[in-house]
Amino acid sequence: MPHRAVIALGSNLGNRDFYLNMALCLIGWEVGKVVQRSSVIETPSWGFDSDPFLNQVVVVETELEPIVLLDVLQDIERRLGRTEKSSVVDGKPVYHARTIDLDILDYDRMRYHDDRLTLPHPHIAEREFVLVPLRELGISIP
Ligand code: ADP
Ligand code: MG
Repeated sequence: MPHRAVIALGSNLGNRDFYLNMALCLIGWEVGKVVQRSSVIETPSWGFDSDPFLNQVVVVETELEPIVLLDVLQDIERRLGRTEKSSVVDGKPVYHARTIDLDILDYDRMRYHDDRLTLPHPHIAEREFVLVPLRELGISIP
């Protein structure tokens, strides 16, 4: 049985349409079958002062285990030219413009936490740019 992963895509640097489409294509090749995809929406940058994002949420059927899925998504981020990671300075998150950001929102409704991965993604409830596409797809994440 494949697992069901909900993935958020975001881009706010360079040719945003291209990065979103390329990421979707690589996800289809390397993660699994894309079974649902939301519309692409444009939203102001969240948490930092930068250009607006294009955001999209997709549902993928995958055989990859969660950590391997994170490895593959981070590898796709690197290949699409993402350079800087978010970090924490003085207890506050510091974000950077990015060609592509790929976050795992949910994986089989699993609860999981280690230093690299938290499931479900901890910031869903406060981020309109994922809530709107999730609503469109009829997905609620506990
Ligand atoms: P953000 O997505 O918040 O802008 P990054 O993409 O730089 O920040 O991710 C920071 C770290 O968040 C990554 O190094 C990754 O290990 C971690 N992380 C924890 N949980 C998740 C998740 N569910 N999906 C994606 N990354 C996650
Ligand atoms: Mg991320």
